[in-house]
Amino acid sequence: MLIGQDITVLGAGIGGLAVATALAQRGAQVRVLDQADAIREVGAGLQVSPNGAVVMQALGLGAALDAAAPQARAVVLRDFRRGDEVFRMTLDRADRPYHLTHRADLIEILRQGAQAAGVTVELGRKVIAVEPGDAEARLTFEGGATEAVPLLIGADGLHSPSRAALNPATRPFFTGQVAWRCTIPLDKPDTPPEATVHMGPGRHIVTYPLRGGELMNVVAVEERDGWAAEGWNHKDRPEILRAAFADFAPEIRDLLFRADGVYLWGLFRHPVAKHWSQGRVALLGDAAHPTLPFLAQGANMALEDAWVLADALDQEDDIATAFTRYAGLRRKRVARIVEAASRNAENYHLRPGPYRAAAHLALRLGGRFAPQLAANRFEWLYGHDVTRAR
Ligand SMILES: Cc1cc2nc3c(=O)[nH]c(=O)nc-3n(C[C@H](O)[C@H](O)[C@H](O)COP(=O)(O)OP(=O)(O)OC[C@H]3O[C@@H](n4cnc5c(N)ncnc54)[C@H](O)[C@@H]3O)c2cc1C
Repeated sequence: MLIGQDITVLGAGIGGLAVATALAQRGAQVRVLDQADAIREVGAGLQVSPNGAVVMQALGLGAALDAAAPQARAVVLRDFRRGDEVFRMTLDRADRPYHLTHRADLIEILRQGAQAAGVTVELGRKVIAVEPGDAEARLTFEGGATEAVPLLIGADGLHSPSRAALNPATRPFFTGQVAWRCTIPLDKPDTPPEATVHMGPGRHIVTYPLRGGELMNVVAVEERDGWAAEGWNHKDRPEILRAAFADFAPEIRDLLFRADGVYLWGLFRHPVAKHWSQGRVALLGDAAHPTLPFLAQGANMALEDAWVLADALDQEDDIATAFTRYAGLRRKRVARIVEAASRNAENYHLRPGPYRAAAHLALRLGGRFAPQLAANRFEWLYGHDVTRAR
């Protein structure tokens, strides 16, 4: 029962705003705290796959998402040098919308949804420590102020202080891959709404149009020996990105020639958190299970978590039972997704040689003669509807 319950959500990101909305729609009094001074345009493209889109629909935000982000037609794998098609997975099922969206647009839709549900958002509130207790959770803010709250949801992302409080011993490791991201002005409304992966030895680049062809979203991954910091916001020089992909097909070189405002980040692997809750604190989204971007599921898992956690808190009278139910429903699925995302990079980065030729031939033949098999391979991922499963 959530009516009148006082719930604090740490983090006004995708998972935080979604869980706040879901809880407030069920009658809770919800407050969201975020370190940022403003909810503003950060990040780049995000793919909202059908398993995330069902949550947006259940929150009453499906129409807003449809209006902001066109439905994708396909994911296409291409050879890096010639650009020819190796494999195509069509995504145009009307009952399974797959959206290519801008992170800022998704955040704005969720923010409006939260506001309409009566959620309050407090910005400029950076938390530096979380102490989970049996009757309350204590937050320490930058500057030293403290506050006790009856129930805290830690949706505070990759560098989550909530996760650190519940799982002090875990350490991520560098995967040997770095990724650049940028958006490039395109102004081509006729660009097909497809996500394309050019696969090269030790490198791949994902491109897809945003906002009806106004921008092209780019995520480019390269294998490297060393890297120091993890985070989204390290600026890099566009020449370095161009040099790394200089032997890719002309359409990629032409696109990168216009790249500016390029960010580079080191890709680290984190174990899925062992402890998802303690006392009056529960984790969700990246705070519980950061993932590599190779399956485009970070935001989708956060949306799924948000729905399941709100539902568990609504169904169960006791908070500990609700938290156990939530983790029980989510742990296996997110572990499978995180693992599948980690494996994808290896598939994209095959070195030239007989193994790569055979793998690409198998994909080509599979795509041509058994396209349904390819779609079926992802049924477990995209066909999962947390708003129906109980
Ligand atoms: C700046 C940024 C850009 C991103 N860009 C992309 C992208 O282009 N493509 C992609 O696929 N994924 C991107 N991601 C990751 C993707 O958005 C996540 O997988 C997904 O958002 C997970 O949702 P979440 O709610 O768990 O975390 P997030 O959406 O990351 O939200 C976490 C929120 O918690 C807040 N927060 C963190 N620490 C504190 C603290 N100590 N005190 C108070 N508030 C705190 C943050 O300000 C943030 O608003 C980005 C994430 C960030 C933060």
